[in-house]
Amino acid sequence: MPINDPAPCAEGKDLYECRECLTRLCSGDRITSCPDCGGRVENLSKSRLE
Ligand SMILES: [Zn+2]
Repeated sequence: MPINDPAPCAEGKDLYECRECLTRLCSGDRITSCPDCGGRVENLSKSRLE
């Protein structure tokens, strides 16, 4: 699955992607659920660093 590079998040913020609706958002806080649909979100920034 191709992944387009989203707009970079501000420094100190991580990029999250909702596994349900694929909404992407930046947050400086750790989030575990999508603010739009309540689905599970994945921290893309963290997975890339690791
Ligand atoms: Zn969602």
